Amino acid sequence: MTDENGSRDVQPAIVKVFGRTGCAAAYAVRDLLHRCDVPFEWIELKTDEQARAIGVDSINDSRLPVCVFPDGARMQNPSIRQITEKLGWFRDPSRSEYDVAIYGAGPAGLSAAVYAASEGLATALVERNAIGGQAGTSPKIENYLGFPAGISGADLAERAREQACRFGAEILLAREGIPGELSAGNRVGYLADGTKIIARSAICATGVDYRRLGLFGEDRFHSAGVYYGAGASEASLCRNEYVFVVGGGNSAGQAALHFSRFAEKVTIVVRHDSLKSTLSSYLLDRINSTKNIEVFTNTEVTALRGNGILRAITLKNHRTDKNQTCNTRWLFVCIGGAPHTEWATGVGVARDEGGYLVTGPDLLRDGRPPDGWPLDRNPYYLETNVPGVFAAGDVRRGSVKRCASAVGEGAMAVMFVHRYLASG
Ligand SMILES: Cc1cc2nc3c(=O)[nH]c(=O)nc-3n(C[C@H](O)[C@H](O)[C@H](O)COP(=O)(O)OP(=O)(O)OC[C@H]3O[C@@H](n4cnc5c(N)ncnc54)[C@H](O)[C@@H]3O)c2cc1C
Repeated sequence: MTDENGSRDVQPAIVKVFGRTGCAAAYAVRDLLHRCDVPFEWIELKTDEQARAIGVDSINDSRLPVCVFPDGARMQNPSIRQITEKLGWFRDPSRSEYDVAIYGAGPAGLSAAVYAASEGLATALVERNAIGGQAGTSPKIENYLGFPAGISGADLAERAREQACRFGAEILLAREGIPGELSAGNRVGYLADGTKIIARSAICATGVDYRRLGLFGEDRFHSAGVYYGAGASEASLCRNEYVFVVGGGNSAGQAALHFSRFAEKVTIVVRHDSLKSTLSSYLLDRINSTKNIEVFTNTEVTALRGNGILRAITLKNHRTDKNQTCNTRWLFVCIGGAPHTEWATGVGVARDEGGYLVTGPDLLRDGRPPDGWPLDRNPYYLETNVPGVFAAGDVRRGSVKRCASAVGEGAMAVMFVHRYLASG
């Protein structure tokens, strides 16, 4: 991680995180530090005596996890915002008005911030969590141009963050955008903590949220055995364990390969009868030649068991109609996502039936702009039905769902922002 000015020369601090396995709050901290590329040491507490040694009563104490920072500062069960503040990355908007406010700091939002700031636009980038989005959870992105040996999503995101900061973009982390007022001359965006962001244009790059399995009691195990995404921060904790990955796409394939370096065995669970149609061939070849990865086809997870922490899962094979129970503490769900755009309906931004934001030519009916469109031009390619509000990346209807295309759309959206602002 770099400092506020984007310098990479600063030696990152090492944070110690004490907690117990299966604790959702501890996972949130590890995930945040990993995504932000902050080196940390995870110290698992196994006994109450160990817990008392760090100042809490037992391993079930709600004050866990405890984070100890290099300056000796100690935080008990800190929130994402408190950690962000402690690391010096939390900031308030410095301007009363921006040329563009970008929501979401995944590849699309980061790219938009780099191009907007580098082209002289006063730019705010708002992210509810850590930078990197879905890409930030990827252990290794191998198809991104210019990195023939691959690059971890966290590293790629951190480089982009540094670049955006160098050009003067303001990155507001740990802050969530909520429905604003889009009908006024200036777009007024509200953040969940009450902060107001006024901008002349907006780019929505809020990506997608991971889809759930939809099983009874699933929420109880969220981050306590059931994880959504590739769990890049967790791999080294799975040493000698049995890990299950649900999904047949590239993110599931990448996750399985990454876990196979640590786990005793990795089982990929897919509903289809093969991975061939859903996985890139370079990943398929590697999976087939990795001894400790097995693939259960025609199979679904049908039940989760455990008492607070996942202990076992039930799998059903639809071909044989047989159920089997497997003991595991690690289930990673990589079954794609759904856009998180409920906010759009409240402010009149059009969505399709899947919840994706509709832009440009997709808005036209018989070549004519949508009802209520107030201008005598058609919407620009990445523009929504609200002039000056753009969408880029996975959140957009018809997007390609790749890092490179999200980055491309982020850059392209900025070009349309310029056109929009120039037209007054
Ligand atoms: C595990 C995994 C591995 C992958 N591997 C590859 C790969 O190897 N190659 C490849 O090309 N693609 C890969 N992908 C796909 C790729 O990561 C996505 O296509 C890409 O991240 C989409 O970028 P995005 O910026 O549109 O959205 P996202 O990456 O989804 O980022 C959206 C961001 O918006 C934030 N956000 C959401 N709502 C709000 C709000 N209200 N306010 C503020 N912020 C908000 C989110 O927290 C998030 O950070 C992978 C995906 C996953 C999950």
